[in-house]
Amino acid sequence: MKNRFRILAIMLIMIILTAAGRKEQKPLNLIIFIGDGMGTDQVYAGMTASGFNMTFPAFPVTGFSITYSANRYITDSAAGGTAISTGEKTNNGMIAVRPDSTEIPTIFEIARKAGLSTGAVSTSTITHATPASFIAHDASRGSYEEIAKWFLKGNADVFIGGGINHFSARSDSADLTVDLKKMGYDVVYNLPDLKNSRSSRIAGLMAEEGLPYIDEGRDPDFLAAATAKALEVLSQNKKGFVLMVEGSQIDWAAHDNNMKRTVEEVLDLDRAVKIAYDFARKSGNTLIVVTADHETGGLSLTGGSIEEKTVSGTFGTKGHSAVMVPVFAYGPGASSFSGVQDNTDLFHDFMKLLSLKK
Ligand SMILES: [Zn+2]
Repeated sequence: MKNRFRILAIMLIMIILTAAGRKEQKPLNLIIFIGDGMGTDQVYAGMTASGFNMTFPAFPVTGFSITYSANRYITDSAAGGTAISTGEKTNNGMIAVRPDSTEIPTIFEIARKAGLSTGAVSTSTITHATPASFIAHDASRGSYEEIAKWFLKGNADVFIGGGINHFSARSDSADLTVDLKKMGYDVVYNLPDLKNSRSSRIAGLMAEEGLPYIDEGRDPDFLAAATAKALEVLSQNKKGFVLMVEGSQIDWAAHDNNMKRTVEEVLDLDRAVKIAYDFARKSGNTLIVVTADHETGGLSLTGGSIEEKTVSGTFGTKGHSAVMVPVFAYGPGASSFSGVQDNTDLFHDFMKLLSLKK
């Protein structure tokens, strides 16, 4: 009798633990932040300059992602984005297709089939390699006008970034915004109109090409406000959503070996993460993963001051480097992102955690 009671008690505890474990492990929503070119040194430069007042470096789970592509030791943003959006390595320059050019389903396409909503926000053109890897399929990242046509498939319920020219000033003289409006998209061209939109589908085309650096005129509120709007729209779907937000100019600044801008752009991405973090804390069922597609500039921090919040560094290259990039995770399922993983594993973790199947 005593034994039977003990067995029952143990079983009850196990059921409770399993239930609690399951609840902890399964997010409804996923927000992926990609700091393009953001290696560990870029992050620590931001931490130093902010007086250790950043949001994502304080996330409870950290890991590393290995970034090599199918044909290069050093990846570009197309192959790097594709690894995260599809779980397969491809050649540099390719957007969600295999090296033989066959299409690979992206997490956006898979999530939408399962009834989730999807969105992409970028400070670059929305047709640029990183957001394109989630929405389009093309053997060449430079085929911006072809990539823009993929947005007419509705693979992203919300997309906000630059790239008006790829939709409305095309070599085939088509105006894709006409089609987008027919599909129910509210097409907006500036931040006030974006903030005021009440549509469940939004195409935010905020610049002819990519948006400028913050110190060249991009509204420091843009990325955070666009992230907030995307969350407001996507969270209406009770089945959940997948949102990808890219800080593109970290990469550009590091290509230029410009330390000041690199720091500014890392802190800009963090402002957007803060919006998502506040949302995730309230919702309780949202996983946030912050990572990079690759490191840019081979940055190494060679000097600085904690008191003065200054940092200096040297860049080893004008291109990308091969180093592992950091991964920061918060929310249910975050523990899947600890340790060293391949960039393609991120996708498989997302799929498992969101209970999605190819
Ligand atoms: Zn780059």
